[in-house]
Amino acid sequence: AIRVRFAPSPTGMFHVGSARSTLFNWAVAKQQGGTFVLRIEDTDAARNKPEWVDGILSAMRALGISPEDPTFEGPYFQSQNVGLHQEAAARLSDAGRAYFCDCTRETLVERTGSQHAGYDGFCRDRGLAYEPGRALRFRTPDDGETAVVDLIRGNPTFPNGVIEDFVIARGDGSPVFLLANVVDDMDERITHVIRGEEHLSNTPKQQMLWEALGATPPVWAHLPVLVNEKRQKLSKRRDKVALEDFFAEGILPDAMVNYLMLLGWAPGNDEEILPFEELVRRFRVEDVNSAPAFFDIKKLTSFNGEYIRALAPEAFAAACEPWLRAPRAPWADEAYDPAVFAAVAPLAQTRIALLSEITANVDFLFLDEPIIDDQSWAKTMKAGAADLLADARAALADATWEPEALKDTITAVGEKHGLKLGKAQAPVRVAVTGRTVGLPLFESLELLGRERVLARVDAALA
Ligand code: GLU
Repeated sequence: AIRVRFAPSPTGMFHVGSARSTLFNWAVAKQQGGTFVLRIEDTDAARNKPEWVDGILSAMRALGISPEDPTFEGPYFQSQNVGLHQEAAARLSDAGRAYFCDCTRETLVERTGSQHAGYDGFCRDRGLAYEPGRALRFRTPDDGETAVVDLIRGNPTFPNGVIEDFVIARGDGSPVFLLANVVDDMDERITHVIRGEEHLSNTPKQQMLWEALGATPPVWAHLPVLVNEKRQKLSKRRDKVALEDFFAEGILPDAMVNYLMLLGWAPGNDEEILPFEELVRRFRVEDVNSAPAFFDIKKLTSFNGEYIRALAPEAFAAACEPWLRAPRAPWADEAYDPAVFAAVAPLAQTRIALLSEITANVDFLFLDEPIIDDQSWAKTMKAGAADLLADARAALADATWEPEALKDTITAVGEKHGLKLGKAQAPVRVAVTGRTVGLPLFESLELLGRERVLARVDAALA
């Protein structure tokens, strides 16, 4: 059976590229009745932090990949396998497939006259024994080529002549990533390595190691890089990439999962919004495109809007809850009334694409005074607005407090001023909600109650 793995290094926030890799692996394992292995590549003690491991696990959970699932195996920790990595290094050295080397960067530059030269093989036949400070290098073949099976990239071949004798263990005896990664994949009996394109150049070296260690190399699949709107490779310094940041502004995990599955792959029939099970059913690594995939936040956001609109009322309320309570909400917890929210929720649900937008849609209901948006004020409170507001105030004082009647009331006030309803209601809306756009006005007035509405109109007139 197929065994795939996701092998993150716990060196930072979990980003969307990792999320895509883990989902593609998960999809393959699920579809094929295979196993998904999680391996934490934590050998770089200087850069790893235990909290990043928790971050990986909770991000994966949020994506629907749970360690309790029968498809899931691990997590394994690379650091616990160091003995096995060293054993492999010793085997390669004993078999003459690797040799010790005491060259430094400086001696190499001096010999080759170039700052960028690859290793020149100087120590190949010197027969040096291990001493602290001597690295172990893999002896790459001089001729022929290394052909890898890559399901996405049409089986590239790499001429062996250009692959330098690379280091597999450092001067202190510690194995390097290239070797540890291969030995762990062998140990975990991985059949398919599905990972980011940035590792493609490691692949011929790693395949040489598989072969030198007497094992059948895996099938590879190198996923296309993710790029921003300027076609630049996503970078955590320049772009928003942390999964957590997207969740914090109200991207729903299901929308994120759906969107990530489409980065480099399409389910066909021009369909995009599909349940995960259906995406898994249709997914084929062979159909993943090798061209860079545009991580389009606008498209993600519009997916999210669709997912929000599809939520049942209780699920929508539950999803909004964190934005309706301290510390995220701009009002005091005591001022929040779930019944009032429930009354406007269906109106708000169709209007927002991010859950974080919910607060600005309903804040006027829970704050003592509306947050007046300066631009909205400037746009509506022009000459004549005060007269109109004063008339509206007088009419609202006696109006039947029900949306249809309120609408008729403001329509009549507008007619007196030669204004259509749209223009006539704008200053009322700004006075009461603080903004020119928002939930349907007359329902909002009804919920707010006559007393508060009149007080806010008075405040705007003052
Ligand atoms: N730890 C490596 C990374 O984070 C894994 C590479 C691989 O998947 O082989 O990029």
